[in-house]
Amino acid sequence: VGCSGMILTLIMCKAMNRNLANVLFSGFGGDSTTSDAEVEGEMKAASTSDAYYVLEAAQTVVIIPGYGMAVAQAQHAVKELGDLLEENGTEVFYAIHPVAGRMPGHMNVLLAEADVPYEQLVEMDTINPRMPSVDVAIVIGANDVVNPAASDDKSSPIYGMPIIKANEARTVYALKRGQGAGFSGLINQLYFLEKTRMLYGDAKETVTSLVSEFKR
Ligand code: NDP
Repeated sequence: VGCSGMILTLIMCKAMNRNLANVLFSGFGGDSTTSDAEVEGEMKAASTSDAYYVLEAAQTVVIIPGYGMAVAQAQHAVKELGDLLEENGTEVFYAIHPVAGRMPGHMNVLLAEADVPYEQLVEMDTINPRMPSVDVAIVIGANDVVNPAASDDKSSPIYGMPIIKANEARTVYALKRGQGAGFSGLINQLYFLEKTRMLYGDAKETVTSLVSEFKR
């Protein structure tokens, strides 16, 4: 148990581009690192019926799950949405960040439980070069793992942590309940971009509502 714990810890450190001492003794996590960073723009809400029209026309969609998908237990609804998109002729990928959720492999386990085909799970380093040609990124309860501050803002506590570059997709839909921060406590500029629309609510309810739009 000790060895496997150490291995998982080292996987986490590598995925976060941080050394062990930094992970153990720095203030990252909780609310101690809440950033005062200035954000530009505003978070713009959309409805699932608006999102449906954009998704229905999309050629490529990347689903980026995070801790909120686990909290909502939305993985089965997410798989159903992925299937409906595919039936509609859309290419669908699930982009997996190694520390999305609260344990390494958390998203892989949940998506496997929902029978998402393994070939559709794409690692961060594989999907990132493709993000500029992706029509829609659907961010489902992910926050820190898609926070552009990790690559843009040298003063950010998460600077240097690799992220999935949702901000490079043409359109972003972000599913979360409200203005809540992620594990790091940081503001995420992704939600304030002109190309981003917020689908507020519990992730399972929102994805189920998108599924209903497709079935209508
Ligand atoms: P985050 O913890 O950064 O963000 C999760 C987001 O989910 C929140 O912003 C929250 O916003 C939203 N959320 C919560 N509940 C729901 C819900 N029911 N429906 C919809 N949205 C919801 O998640 P990430 O996966 O992006 O990042 C994981 C973080 O955890 C990283 O910082 C990582 O370093 C850290 N970590 C990871 C470990 C691992 O091994 N995987 C271990 C320890 C830490 P709102 O409140 O507005 O809904």
